[in-house]
Amino acid sequence: MDCPNNHGKMELKRLVKEVTFRGRLVKYRPEHFVCHSCGLVADDWKLAANNQKALSDAYRRTVGLLSSEEIVEGRKKLGWNQEQLAKAASVGIASIKRWEGGLIQTKSMDAILRRVLTGKETLKDIYTGNRGGISLQRIKLVLGEFGKALGKKILRSSDKGVLYAGKYLFYADMIAFRELGQSVTGASYAAMPHGPQLDNYRELVESIQAADESEAEPLTEQEKRIIRRIAKTFPNDQSIYRAVHKEEVFKNKKPGEHILYTDAERLLEM
Ligand SMILES: [Zn+2]
Repeated sequence: MDCPNNHGKMELKRLVKEVTFRGRLVKYRPEHFVCHSCGLVADDWKLAANNQKALSDAYRRTVGLLSSEEIVEGRKKLGWNQEQLAKAASVGIASIKRWEGGLIQTKSMDAILRRVLTGKETLKDIYTGNRGGISLQRIKLVLGEFGKALGKKILRSSDKGVLYAGKYLFYADMIAFRELGQSVTGASYAAMPHGPQLDNYRELVESIQAADESEAEPLTEQEKRIIRRIAKTFPNDQSIYRAVHKEEVFKNKKPGEHILYTDAERLLEM
């Protein structure tokens, strides 16, 4: 590249930069054309794209997300093309192209990518939020935590018709998956006439009531914080009922259709 101020060829130089990106201090090494006479710094489109990717990768390393390079390498180790990875992760091939090209994946998609790339992903994980199965004991623990936060018991055999408890569980599991990469209880959810609901909830209610929560893996502080946030946002049955009915991920589903954990990205009321 020539200097626009007529100083002839500019030199390609790798610099060390520290910038605030998405609220984090990120150190990276972009490459620029520099003019020795006037000090002008410039990028052509290719450098600009590479620098953008270097910044994105540095950020991803800082916050513990897979970098573009790690995604490409992991994929090649499995001998897969982008289409095969897309299929295994249940995303479009355009997403794989974007993440490998420098676009930053969300935490929950990162968790899915990691599982897929280490060969541990099963199709079930988008139904159980990376838990591999439902824990009735943990459901009971979560309901107890909601009970404390809301000041009332939320699993009532009398409201089997709507089962508000299922909606609180829905948000707890989905938000935990979105923010922590794993659901709290491993439950699957389906779109029912009264909103998102525990899959097969009618059969589950009694088993949940009979479950021994002392056998459950204790809730982490992060999980408890999510539960308290949900309780604060939806202090009563009406408010959570209204919220779930506004969710596109629910409205766009046919009755009985599963709401997948990958839908958690698109929840708007929490
Ligand atoms: Zn110059």
